[in-house]
Amino acid sequence: MLPRFWRKIRYRYDLIGTRCNTCGRNYYPPRNFCPVCRRRSSIEEVQLSGYGTVLSYSIVHDTPVGLKMEKPYVVALIQLDEGPIITSQLACEPEEVHDGMRVKAVFRKYGEDGEDGIIYYGTKFIPAEEA
Ligand SMILES: [Zn+2]
Repeated sequence: MLPRFWRKIRYRYDLIGTRCNTCGRNYYPPRNFCPVCRRRSSIEEVQLSGYGTVLSYSIVHDTPVGLKMEKPYVVALIQLDEGPIITSQLACEPEEVHDGMRVKAVFRKYGEDGEDGIIYYGTKFIPAEEA
């Protein structure tokens, strides 16, 4: 096991999920338990490709007070190629998004805390160009 600190860093920069070797299901975000296999769960970390397909989406026009974001922005329900379905912000023009659109995960800097020098990162999705 890696020290907790480094594990956290890794989760920020890679799309790490978990896989249940008992049933073959993949999970993202990572979980240490398979709800299908329960006590027969055999969990290991798995690096996800970051590629997925838009199942549905919504255009968000309101932003929380105090949060500086471009608006409107797109929030999409995305099925990762490995199976897990997640909701994420999709960085594209609202008129560009459509069901079945191919997307990929990227890591974006959200902000920086001037005094402490803390930098906040998060996962976002962008349109994917594939051959
Ligand atoms: Zn399982």
